[in-house]
Formats: sequence, structure tokens, C-alpha cells
Amino acid sequence: MAPRSFVVTGANRGIGLGIVSQLLKNREIEVIIATCRQPEKAEELLAIKDERLHLLQLEIDDDSSINAFYSKAESLLGEKGLAVLVNNAGVLIDYDVLQEPDRETIRKQLETNSISPAVFIQRMLPLLRKAAELEEGERLSVDRAAIVNISSTAASIQKIDGTFNGPLVAYRMSKSALNSFAKSCSIDLKPLHILVTSFCPGWVQTDMGGKNALLTVEQSTSELVSSILRLSSEHHGGFFERNLQLKLA
Ligand code: NDP
Repeated sequence: MAPRSFVVTGANRGIGLGIVSQLLKNREIEVIIATCRQPEKAEELLAIKDERLHLLQLEIDDDSSINAFYSKAESLLGEKGLAVLVNNAGVLIDYDVLQEPDRETIRKQLETNSISPAVFIQRMLPLLRKAAELEEGERLSVDRAAIVNISSTAASIQKIDGTFNGPLVAYRMSKSALNSFAKSCSIDLKPLHILVTSFCPGWVQTDMGGKNALLTVEQSTSELVSSILRLSSEHHGGFFERNLQLKLA
């Protein structure tokens, strides 16, 4: 059985748009809320004619936007709450240890890639709890209630080996912080029966990944969504490649 509902952040382009497109292929999913900062300019999403798809404004760095989003999502989702929250929105700004120090560039990536998803997860908890409480028992599963963070292999301290080190320094810091928050969530949300998992989507041809990336959005997100739809207790608290085959640390 597929989860009833999804929220996907940063869904107007790149991997977020790809995730929404893949989710729409599954007819068991009833509600997909795609968020973006400027819905009126989200041409690809606006062109999709599917009554299950709802487009809502969300700037994840802005608490008033998060609060307004919450109210709209709450009324759209109703008593069944939210089954799956996909935190996809993110930024990458080149930063190098040897460059002139620049507090703002580091701060911006920490803000959008780690602080904002943490705040957003906390704000969305009542809706995830509603979904989790629809059933009794200890089962952890994506079709009950789940948080999925789109992280990056760059977050893995174990994998810092010199490849792409320079420009990714502040981005790495921000995604490591996101993974750390996800791990804490996996402990604190287990008694609430909310599953928490982080993924690296691979190196993908988007505005962020660039034209030389190894994977198309379709290749990455078809595997990613197939993995998301299979998540169960064995994946709780884990950080995986998009195909669930390699567990990262
Ligand atoms: P893109 O740059 O193509 O898209 C980023 C998305 O995030 C856009 O929708 C953007 O909205 C949104 N966004 C950025 N900042 C905010 C904000 N403050 N509030 C709301 N939305 C925001 O990136 P990708 O699609 O490539 O990346 C998606 C995720 O995947 C990111 O978390 C990224 O770190 C991760 N990732 C990507 C990889 C790759 O190779 N592409 C590799 C590993 C991880 P807007 O259009 O308004 O700017």
C-alpha cells in the first residue's frame, strides 16, 4: 500500500519536480502538496493537470511562510494528517577553506539546508502525528508516517577524501548538520511511530548539480521514489544512496 499523502519542498525545479512527477505515477497516492517560493512562476507544475496535486507557497527560511503553509496544508489534509514529508529544498554556494572568510555564505547554507528543515519538521509534527495515530501498534513504515530528507554524500565525514573538497566546504557543514538532526529525530520520533530516513540522490543534472552530472533527474528520482515507497523499520535513522543499497555514515 502506498502512503496517502506527501509534502515535497522545493518542487518547482530539479530533483523536487522530479520527485513530484514520479509520485504522480502512483495512483494509490491521494494527495501531493508541492511547495515552492513562487507558485505563480512554477510553469512545469502549473502545467500538470491532476486533481491530486496541490501547489502551495513556502519559503523555508521564513517562519511566517511556514505558519501560513501549515494552516493551508492542515485543511487540505484533514483528519488523516500527513503521511510523508520530503525535505528537498536546498542551496549550494561555493566556499573554500582558503578563500577570504565570509560568514554570510556559510550562514546562508546552514540556514536553508539545516536550520530551516529542522524548524519545518518540528512545525509539521502535529500533521505527521495525526497520520501515525491512525493505526495502533509499533509499526514504522512509510505508509504510516515518515520524514525523508534529501541530503548528500557530501554530508558524510567518512567520505571526505579530497574529491570536490574546495567549493563544497560550507555545503558539507550544512548537510552534516541536517543528518545530525535527522538522527536525533529518529530517536525522539520512534515512540511516535514516525519513520526518519536520509538519502543522497546521486550527482544529478540540475541547476545545482550542473550539466556534467552523472544522472538525469528522471534516473535519480525514479530510483529515489521507488526506495521511498519501500521504507520500513529497517531503514529508520539511516542515511542511504538513492537505491537503498549503500548505507552511508
Ligand atoms: P536546484 O538548485 O535545482 O533546486 C533547488 C530547489 O530548492 C528549488 O526549488 C529552490 O527554489 C528550492 N529552494 C532553495 N532555497 C529555498 C528556500 N529558502 N525556501 C524554499 N525553497 C528553496 O537543486 P537540486 O534539485 O539539484 O537539489 C535538490 C536537493 O537535492 C537539495 O537539497 C540538494 O542539496 C540535494 N542534492 C542535489 C544533488 C545534485 O547533484 N543535484 C546532489 C546531492 C544532493 P527556487 O526555484 O525558488 O530557488
